[in-house]
This record gives sequence, C-alpha cells and structure tokens, in this order.
Amino acid sequence: MELKNFSFSCPFCNQILNNNEEIELVTRRDSGAEGRIFMSVTFGNYTYRHIPETEFELKEIVDFVCPNCMEDLKAPNHPNFALLNMDVGNEISFEVIFSRESGKRKTYVITEDGIETYQG
Ligand SMILES: [Zn+2]
Repeated sequence: MELKNFSFSCPFCNQILNNNEEIELVTRRDSGAEGRIFMSVTFGNYTYRHIPETEFELKEIVDFVCPNCMEDLKAPNHPNFALLNMDVGNEISFEVIFSRESGKRKTYVITEDGIETYQG
C-alpha cells in the first residue's frame, strides 16, 4: 500500500505534519530530552532522521508530541502507541497508530473495515 499521497495530521489541532517524504514530530524522552524526528511516510520503512542525532535504548518508550500544538500523541486506547489521523480524501480519515517503543516496528491503520497491520 503506497501512502505517499495521504496527509497525516494531528488529532488535536488538525495540523498536517508531513510533506511528500517525511512526517515531522517532536520526541520527548524520560530524561526530558527533546528532539525532532522525521519518519518516512512509506509504511514498512522504519528509517528515520532525528535531530539531534540520538541512539534510543532498545525498548525505550518515547513520547511523540505534535510540533504545532505540543499535545502528547499517545493513543488513548493503546498507551504504547502514538496516534495520527491519516486523511485519504473525500473527508475520510483513518487512524494510524505506531509503536512508541524503540526497536518495535509496528504500525496499524484502523479503517472502517478493520485493522491493517504493517511491520518492518
Ligand atoms: Zn497538534
């Protein structure tokens, strides 16, 4: 599934958070350290850039924060995941949740037909 042409937006302020290639979010660690992460919009591609360059610990749970409204994007029903809206056109949007745990490569798209899983 090629998702490049879709928009990913904040569920709180509806700000679109991606360009053609990357989704930009703020990261926050338990230590209080903050950074910016740029994740590929291609599902199954788990490469990312992080500024500043950071090695996350394996299994570390990272907070993802909207760079526009600074709300924590933690998924209400799935605390170890972060939630974004994916707008697919015609005023239809799906929820996308992805793992907040470093090294755990799981993304789910929740559609009216059920849940599609992506993992890399
Ligand atoms: Zn926001």
